[in-house]
Amino acid sequence: AADAALYEVKRTGRNGFAFHHEGLNILTRERARQEAQLREALQSNALELHYQPRISLKDGRITGVEALVRLRIDGKLVFPDEFISIAEDTGLIHDLSRWVLREACRQCKVWQDGPLRDVLVAINMSPMRLRQPDLSREIADVLAEYDLEPKRIEFEITETMLATATQECGEQIRELSKLGFKLSLDDFGTGFSNLAYLRKLPIDTLKIDRSFVSMSEGDMTIASAIIGLGGSFGKSIVAEGIETREQEQALMKLGCDEGQGFLYSRAVCAAEIEDMFDLVSAP
Ligand code: C2E
Ligand code: MG
Ligand code: MG
Ligand code: MG
Repeated sequence: AADAALYEVKRTGRNGFAFHHEGLNILTRERARQEAQLREALQSNALELHYQPRISLKDGRITGVEALVRLRIDGKLVFPDEFISIAEDTGLIHDLSRWVLREACRQCKVWQDGPLRDVLVAINMSPMRLRQPDLSREIADVLAEYDLEPKRIEFEITETMLATATQECGEQIRELSKLGFKLSLDDFGTGFSNLAYLRKLPIDTLKIDRSFVSMSEGDMTIASAIIGLGGSFGKSIVAEGIETREQEQALMKLGCDEGQGFLYSRAVCAAEIEDMFDLVSAP
């Protein structure tokens, strides 16, 4: 009987181990597959930039676009939530970000020389990029190569990054601002950042996180507070994730400057942005 009990323990023990082992294996394999897919995408030029328009809540015009990266795998789009964190963990974020910057600049130049002369192109910047000491010079070189004015480009930095910002990150942000780039704080309101940063850093714009815009139409208390706060610091305010006219109306009443969201458009390819622009600016 004792032998039988011992045998039972060993058996379940081994099974338990095998189960966990198998579970880990699946995770590791999935991760490895995603990493390989990303590496391959970077090499085979399978990245795409899509653009979501940013609308003035004062006059309804398109003021700019946000560049949002996608992977095109077997004809299907893969969204950044599935690969940005892998890119950050593996260091591939640097190559990916360089590609995004060049592609956004190339497109911005085409637009600047055409009918979308004044359009601002906003680019999301990974916190990891800001830790690279020569970042601002690298960016300035790309701008010069495309013969583009820095004021056409805005870098979106997540507010959460400020919570862990080092001295160097602050220096990079100041350097980019000195060079003439615009800077915004993305997902604002979710990061619990030290508000003193609003005074210390040359941030132009606060982007109110979608969760405060779309949670319920009647309750915009936090959005309202951010608009008030931003206003008193002289920042312009963009609301992310506007999906309904009611939300738009409420934000207009609160004095929000710009909006972005599915109400206007999802992120679309550059040609579709041009069509949209023709419609809006047609006499
Ligand atoms: P984000 O910068 O806050 O971008 C806004 C996200 O919300 C986008 O998702 C956009 O498609 C989505 N969105 C816009 N309007 C609405 C709306 O009305 N309703 C809803 N439900 N969603 C809306 P996307 O493109 O999947 O990007 C997710 C995140 O990935 C971005 O959040 C950004 O943090 C990151 N990301 C995107 N492109 C890049 C990039 O080139 N570099 C880096 N480092 N991160 C990027
Ligand atoms: Mg963004
Ligand atoms: Mg955001
Ligand atoms: Mg986000």
